[in-house]
Amino acid sequence: MTSLSDLPLRDNLVGKLPYGAPQDPVPVSLNVNENTHPIPEEVVEDVVAELSRAVRGVNRYPDRDFGELRAALAGYLGHGLSADQIWAANGSNEVLQQILQAFGGPGRRLLSFTPTYSMYPLLAAGTDTEWVPVPRPDDYVLRPDFVARTLAEQRPDVAIICGPNNPTGTSLDLEVVEAAADAFDGILIVDEAYHEFDAEHESALRLLPGRPRLLVSRTMSKAFAFAGVRLGYLAADPAVVDALRLVRLPYHLSALTQAAAIAAVRHADRMLATVDDIRGQRDRLSDALTKMGYTVHPSGSNFLLVGGFANPGATFDALRRQGILIRELGIPGHLRMTAGTESETSTLISAISDLGPGGAPSE
Ligand SMILES: *Cc1c(COP(=O)(O)O)cnc(C)c1O
Repeated sequence: MTSLSDLPLRDNLVGKLPYGAPQDPVPVSLNVNENTHPIPEEVVEDVVAELSRAVRGVNRYPDRDFGELRAALAGYLGHGLSADQIWAANGSNEVLQQILQAFGGPGRRLLSFTPTYSMYPLLAAGTDTEWVPVPRPDDYVLRPDFVARTLAEQRPDVAIICGPNNPTGTSLDLEVVEAAADAFDGILIVDEAYHEFDAEHESALRLLPGRPRLLVSRTMSKAFAFAGVRLGYLAADPAVVDALRLVRLPYHLSALTQAAAIAAVRHADRMLATVDDIRGQRDRLSDALTKMGYTVHPSGSNFLLVGGFANPGATFDALRRQGILIRELGIPGHLRMTAGTESETSTLISAISDLGPGGAPSE
């Protein structure tokens, strides 16, 4: 037996912790922003039919460039996109990793506005890219002049702007993306993992024409209720897709993944049918917590960042003991919680209410 500290690990990985949101088998799991509704039965049947067709061909490698899936995703996204502008991988995390493999790396820098998605620094470390965190203003809202000034000063090789932003829920205005794209000549990624939940903000897909260094990433893991399949994707200039082909592993998207995703995209309307309800639960949760005296940050996503907890760790533990999992992210006084089904949301609201002011368990 040896231990991690005995191994000749790369310097920039020493002391790092792996991504590790708890995966307890609890009844109410609201910690990783999944769509907690199961997928509709008729979609299940179509996915199974596609899978059984695909299984019969698994003696052969899958379509390396997954043309049928890319065409299906282009059709879903609209905006006049064609299949050659689409790329996909096993989760948008893999897409982001491929982008950093192609455009980041030793001597290059990745900039993001924090607090933001905890995987960005890990993906940077894994690709030997320097991570440049720039704090958001107190209200977490990015404004065009601030973003443009920061990018013009810092000139990173790659910037990721997450909108709506995880973990704050903050929506992203397209003027910010326009200003960012004009401000520097690096690769600009807009991570739209939660876009389908944001009824009020347009997608950055509209800005793609004429901006060959703008990349818009999406995922089937959140609104689409398909997290277990692992399918994330990207829309960008075809030249960007060519760049990602240089770093992807051969046949990285299995025949089963392709088949399942093709079937699900065919039923996009059904897959997204729960989005309105989830938004409603998010707003109900927000109202209830506000009435209890918590500070709820405005959210365009399916989760809320909530402040006002006297001891977030103690609240997290107390809820976990009751079979409710939410997320502690190390933001003082704050916890993040996903909007689930009506009954999950009710359970969460009454559990927090029972804890009393500041969410402090009484023991
Ligand atoms: C959940 C999430 C993703 C999606 O990850 P997958 O690998 O597609 O499951 C990407 N970006 C952000 C900000 C997320 O919160």
